[in-house]
Amino acid sequence: MLIVMQSQAAQNEIDAVCEYLESKSLKSEQLPGSNRVAIGVTGNKKYVSHDEVSRMPGVKEIIHVTHKYKKVSREFFPDNTIVEVGAARFGSDVPGIIAGPCSIESEEQIMQAAEHVKANGGHVLRGGAFKPRTSPYDFQGLGYEGLDLLYKAGKAYDIPICVEIMSVKDVDLFADKCDMIQVGARNMANFDLLKALSKTNTPILLKRGMTAFVEEFLLAAEYILDGGNKHLVLCERGIRTFETSTRNILDLNSVALIKKMSHLPIIVDPSHAAGRHDLVLPLAKAGLAVGADGIIVETHPQPMKALSDANQQLDFNQFTDFMNEINK
Ligand code: PEP
Ligand code: MN
Repeated sequence: MLIVMQSQAAQNEIDAVCEYLESKSLKSEQLPGSNRVAIGVTGNKKYVSHDEVSRMPGVKEIIHVTHKYKKVSREFFPDNTIVEVGAARFGSDVPGIIAGPCSIESEEQIMQAAEHVKANGGHVLRGGAFKPRTSPYDFQGLGYEGLDLLYKAGKAYDIPICVEIMSVKDVDLFADKCDMIQVGARNMANFDLLKALSKTNTPILLKRGMTAFVEEFLLAAEYILDGGNKHLVLCERGIRTFETSTRNILDLNSVALIKKMSHLPIIVDPSHAAGRHDLVLPLAKAGLAVGADGIIVETHPQPMKALSDANQQLDFNQFTDFMNEINK
């Protein structure tokens, strides 16, 4: 439930409504908007007198939120949320660009990537240290050593870093070292991990599970907001369908839909969606055209030699062209 206060409502009137709700054991949150304050109410199953609330001084109207998710919805929070990570402002007019290799493979590789991403106007450097590989025999990432290398590269080239987390036990370390923490598609429904991350203040990049419904995706996001972390960016990275001619299908419907349903920024990942370097640019443009707030893209100094996702990573010339096109 959402209680919209009149634009001229006084703070003591707003507080009185919150106190009433608390007396009914409901959780309330004041949501200041551009014109007026709204009060978000969760725990709606408990009794609250509609008449009593609507007659309280300063109350304009009561809106019943019909979705299961509340805090991610635009009904709760009509203005776009902007998430800042270094110079990137996800949710603003300028698309935020996260770029870097799929996996961190060596100091030389990640330093070269950091230099190139920064020089070409990328805002955030990505790189996987703990890789969620389908086969246990594939390269699993350099682990903590990889995280240290990414951290070093970020400092050397003065660019914020984003890295995927796989385990709850690493939350404090990642929150300390990373500017943004990625929750990958395979962990979107790892609710213990989401709850632990919700208690940090570090920006989170939450990727949609490859078979997750939009509602499940938004409910995963709700875990992060409900725990108190408001710095959340969503990412559509391609879903599985009957079509197998590309790795996944970039679900642009859901990007346009989520922009309507939620105030959270959403970016697209054309690299994992297509699985092919030559489709990355057109899909990125399509994502921006339907309202995406940015792009995460894989680039590697020598894609042919990459230890993971070799076919979808842009080489440095391609990345330079990509950035020129996107900046247009
Ligand atoms: C990645 O970003 O390297 C990754 C593994 O992505 P996803 O979770 O979307 O597969
Ligand atoms: Mn990858």
